[in-house]
Parts: sequence; C-alpha cells; structure tokens
Amino acid sequence: MTAAFSQEVIDEVKDRVDIVEIIGSYVRLKKSGRNYVGLCPFHKEKTPSFTVSPDKQMFYCFGCGAGGDVLAFLMKQDGLSFPEAVKTLAARVGIDLAGAEESPAAKRQREWKERLYQLGAIAASFYYRLLMRHPVGAAARLYLQQRGVKGETARLFELGYAPDTGTALVDYLRRQGFTPRDIDQAGLSASRPPLGTADRFRGRLMFPIKDSRGRVIGFGGRTLSGGQPKYLNSPETVLFHKGRHLYGLHLALPGIRRKGQAILVEGYMDMIAAWQHGIDNVVASLGTALTPEQARELKKYAREVIIAYDADSAGEAATLRGLDILAAAGLQVRVLQLPEGKDPDEFLAARGAAAFQELVETSQSLMEFRINKAVAAHDPTRPLGRKAIMAAVLPSLQQVKDVVEQEAYVRLLSRHTGISEAAILKALSQPPARHGRTGKAIEKEGRKEDPAPGKRAGNPGELFLLQAYLSSPGLAAGIDGELGEDWGDSPAIQSLTAFVREKRREAPELAGPSLARVLTGRGVPEWDALIARLTLADGLGPVQEQAVKKAILLYKLQRLQKQEREIRIALARAENSGATGRVQELQEQIFHLQQTIKAIKSGRGE
Ligand SMILES: [Zn+2]
Repeated sequence: MTAAFSQEVIDEVKDRVDIVEIIGSYVRLKKSGRNYVGLCPFHKEKTPSFTVSPDKQMFYCFGCGAGGDVLAFLMKQDGLSFPEAVKTLAARVGIDLAGAEESPAAKRQREWKERLYQLGAIAASFYYRLLMRHPVGAAARLYLQQRGVKGETARLFELGYAPDTGTALVDYLRRQGFTPRDIDQAGLSASRPPLGTADRFRGRLMFPIKDSRGRVIGFGGRTLSGGQPKYLNSPETVLFHKGRHLYGLHLALPGIRRKGQAILVEGYMDMIAAWQHGIDNVVASLGTALTPEQARELKKYAREVIIAYDADSAGEAATLRGLDILAAAGLQVRVLQLPEGKDPDEFLAARGAAAFQELVETSQSLMEFRINKAVAAHDPTRPLGRKAIMAAVLPSLQQVKDVVEQEAYVRLLSRHTGISEAAILKALSQPPARHGRTGKAIEKEGRKEDPAPGKRAGNPGELFLLQAYLSSPGLAAGIDGELGEDWGDSPAIQSLTAFVREKRREAPELAGPSLARVLTGRGVPEWDALIARLTLADGLGPVQEQAVKKAILLYKLQRLQKQEREIRIALARAENSGATGRVQELQEQIFHLQQTIKAIKSGRGE
C-alpha cells in the first residue's frame, strides 16, 4: 500500500524537513563544497563516499550506490515501508496525518476513485458487447476463434473490442453522464487533432486489467488493424500504476493460495490460454520487465514462483532480471524452459495442458539456471571464460547446503564447462574470500552480468543512455527508435523509462530537474537510487548527441554479442544430441549475427 498518502501530503512533509538535518542525526556529516559527506551507513568504508546535497535534497553513496530522497534514506536506515517513513517524518515535523486522512480532500479523493472504477466497469462492458454481439466486432471474434479462445473464457476475462470509428466510447460514456475530464482521467481518451478528443483505444482487442478485487483499473489493447504499437496500455492514472499489477490475479488468487505457487507468464494471451487449459495459478506480468512491487505482491500469496517467459532471447533476458527480483523478495524461484521460439500460448495450443504441467514439474532450480546462464555468458572453451564462469557460480554453489544436491550441480557444471569435478570441488572447499583475492577482476566481470539484489543497477553505458533519456525527449525518442522500448538490462531502468515515456505523452517537454522531481519520492527505492546517482554523480545536464549515438551502437553490439554466446551454447547442446538440422540452423544464425556485428563495427569506423 504505497499510495496511502496523497502526493500533496508527501510533498508537504518533505518540504518541511532538511535532508542534511535528518541524515545528520544518523551519520556524522562534514561540509565539503556545496555538499556534505560522511561514512556510509549502508556499507563498510574508511573514507567517506556518502554524499548529501542540500540543494537537491538527495543523498548518494559513491561506494555502494545507495541513494534517494529523505524518505528513501529512512526506509533503508530504519527498514521502514514507504507509508511508515512518511508517518515517521510527519511526526518529526508535527504534521498530523490522522487528520489528513479524514479530511474532506481525502473523502473527495476516495469518491473520485470510486467514480473511476465505475467508469472502467462501464467501458469494459461497452467493449464486451461490441465484441460479442455487434457487427463491428466480427473481425475480433474471428481473431479470438483462431487463437482458440472460447466464448465462455472471453466472458470471464471480459474481453472486448474497441471500434476504429474515433469517438464511440467517448460518446457513449458522455451519454452515461461522465464528463470529458472523467474520461480523460480514466486514461480512455486522447487528444487527436483534427478530431479533438477521441477514443484512446481504436481498432483493438481489449483486455480489461483488474485489481486483486476484480475492479477494472485499466486496459490493454492489441491492434487488429496493424496499427502501432502492437499492444497499447492505459496511461498512468489514479487507479492504474504500471508495474504494480499482475494480469489475472483476481482469478488466480485462490489457486495460488492453495498451491503456494504461482506461474508467471508474460502476456495477456499466455495467461488466458493457461487458464483455459485448467491451470489456475497463473498470472501475467504485463510486459517483460517484472518489478519489485509485482514480486512483493506475489510474495503475499505464494512461496514459490515459476517463471515461464518466452523462449526467445528477449524472454531469456527478462527471465534473468525477473529471477533476481523474485529472489530478493524472498520467493523460491524456478525457471520453466519452453522449447525455443515458443511462448506458453503456442505451446499449450500445440501440446496441451499435461505437457505444460510436465514442464512445470521439471522446471530448473535457480542454481541450475544460474549455471546455464553463466556458461552462456562466458566462453567455456577459453581459460578466461572458464575462470569467469567459476567466479560467477561458486558463491551461490557454496551456499547449497545439501551435499547430494551440491554434487549434482558440480557434475552439471563440469559437464557444461569441461572443468574437472575434482577442480570444482577443490575450489568449493576454499573459503569464499580467496576467490575474491585471486580473481578480483574476473569476479567483478561476473557480477556485472549478475547484480546481487540491492546492488546498483546499470552499467556505465546504460546509465549514460538513461542520462540522455531523461535530459532530452528528442534523444529519448532516438534511443527508443534504435533500441526498442524495452532496452536496459536492469528492471529499474526499464520501469523508469516506461514511466517517463508515459509522462511525456501528457507533458512532451518534461526533462532534467523537473522530471527528476516527478520521479523521486514515489516509493520506488530503485528509482530513487538511479535518480540520485544521475543528479549527484553524473549531473543531469545536457548530453552530446554524438556521444549518445556512440553509446547506442556500443549497446547494440553488446546485445548481439551476448546473443551469439547464447546461440553457441545451444549449438554445443545440439551437437551433443546429434540434431544435425538444428546444428545447421544455429550455425546459420551465428553467421548472420557475425555479419551484423561486423557491419556495426565497420560503421563505427573500426
Ligand atoms: Zn555506501
């Protein structure tokens, strides 16, 4: 419940305190230029790298990457939730929040939300009727039929159709007594010159997104007319916050509670297909970037989460990010591996529920998956690659307490890398610190690809891109155009850019410090740390366009090289199992990747 207080209340509380004074009561701070520095309370250090800026009202540690506003500090320092931090701070400056909660403003806010819930429900049933009964819904009905979605399922999920006519929904809602402002605030209209205010969703199959209590809070729409983007979601509204909801949760809740286990898929259709096949503990993360909030939501009902993302490389990358987030939330994690090129929807259609259930039962443990991942990330045919794999895997392998289980992993690691079991066991028996001393650089490299939860997000190239992204809407559009909207290896960067994209739809010029203000203090510690780092460490000033172009190329290159390493692993497996057709196919893929890489490199003038 991060939204217990209104933004105005939070701002008022923050405006009444000085971050230097608050942090100064925990940490001995010394003035240094415009800022204050001290020894970081969040990691061990002898020379101060912990910086507090009175101008920006933010802190940032150059040693461990912790950072944010005064609320972020209290949350981290005292282990408070966001509302608790707000309350603590409010008590300190003598603001009575109990009064604020009962105020007429709060009552208006509640009634306003109720009105939006009502509006959402009416819009959903409007779309539903068009889909099921109206001639304009014929193409959408056909599409669902082709995808194997039954009428009964469509009713349960309240699927719908948004017609292409321009203002059908807006007109309908106005006849129901809603004002243009209501419709706008519900995220269902958009200004489309020369039409004026028109429907936001047009020519789309509609998926109402509901909260855990089954109330409509937003929509996702899949294009049926070839329009872009393929999937369009509601913008951020009072009710809908991207990255906080899980699609289908209100239906799957009983199943998840009963089994203590949730199966996490990526898309609407994956969730719907699984449900239709009788799998009742499945939810969708709505896009590839799983967020810490979603993980915390799952943790309320499940002990174990099984990730079943697409088997393509984007899905693979998303799986990796998701794992750390889920594990950090204290969930047991397993990874379900679909045959390459398939998503759960396609797999279920082709092979049925029993085959899927079998995949669930044989899904890999986190450790197995880590081994495979490390082998994919580094070249096991080269000594340095083998060292890096060992450095990446050993710390987690040492934590496996069960001897029999550990032995099985050692065997697996040996088979994948060619390192003898004896050598692995010897390395395992050494105290953890030694790996750090002997192979510091390699371990560092391993860590870059596998950030421990809480570690700072983003590598320097990515952070530079993010800086450019925030500093200029034009550069941001360029980056999205070149790298696609899901660029960024860390979930924090993905969710942050998604949020900025959405905000800029309403305020296209939003950038720099005013954007930073919108982004901080939203109760997302990962964002706070990123923003603090960018403002205090790198500055949120203008960025050279030429440098951004370079960074984009470099990022593309790294992505392709990673893809190549992954295909090489698959190739080795295919060779072992004697699948000659597959071998040839993979060799061709590698060839094409290498051509692309070469082309990019020569374009850089190398
Ligand atoms: Zn620190």
